[in-house]
Amino acid sequence: MTVAVLVEALTVEFGRFRAIDDLSLAIDYGEVRAVIGPNGAGKTTLLDVISGVSRAKTGRILFDEKLELTRASEAQIARSGVRRKFQKPSVFEALTVRDNVEIGLGGAIDAAARERVDRTLETVGLSAEAGRLAGELAHGQKQWLEIAMVVVSEPKVLMLDEPVAGLTDEETERTSALIRALKSPERAIVVVEHDMDFVETVADRVTVLHEGRTLFEGSMARARADARVVDVYLGR
Ligand code: ADP
Repeated sequence: MTVAVLVEALTVEFGRFRAIDDLSLAIDYGEVRAVIGPNGAGKTTLLDVISGVSRAKTGRILFDEKLELTRASEAQIARSGVRRKFQKPSVFEALTVRDNVEIGLGGAIDAAARERVDRTLETVGLSAEAGRLAGELAHGQKQWLEIAMVVVSEPKVLMLDEPVAGLTDEETERTSALIRALKSPERAIVVVEHDMDFVETVADRVTVLHEGRTLFEGSMARARADARVVDVYLGR
């Protein structure tokens, strides 16, 4: 099976501070991978380098065993199907829900595109809100709208940064169901999140980062039982 994202001996520095330290990991198509760990572990930096926002000092990241993300521009990376939803919802509040999703598509909206927008709205549970202004949505709905804006482009790698931060329990459960619905053999999903109960419901595997390195990789259930993981993260 093809590896979706291959991180090889990656090091990222900010000045003299090493945020990612000789990190190697492989994320497969078909899986939901959670990247967890304490504040400052390097989770956001990892997503930043995968999406081309931050640059590696050494090492490389390969997408689909072909495209070297560590040498590609942000635009090239997005165009290749490696997409990210940022932590804070940034929907266009004065536009309708439907218009927001169409923006996610970019380019001209033909009949096929319109159908894709409809399908995506249905997937995220916002069909009934299609004509409403995005600014009128509840916080959870804005999160789903932003996921829709990314998902409508049918990404190969979908990165979600804290998708349930600030959501109610019910909204969190719905987001969990949504992520499971977005799982596909042609897609890898990477989730950065601090809500461990949520992570357990969506992640096939977790990677625990600590000081820019992998401390643990495996199921969430095993992570909970790992003494080092408890020591640096879960026990705090
Ligand atoms: P996490 O997402 O796991 O909380 P981050 O990836 O945001 O961790 O940060 C890892 C470390 O790198 C932190 O110590 C943070 O202060 C530092 N860092 C992140 N981005 C920058 C930056 N642009 N300039 C300087 N230091 C940064």
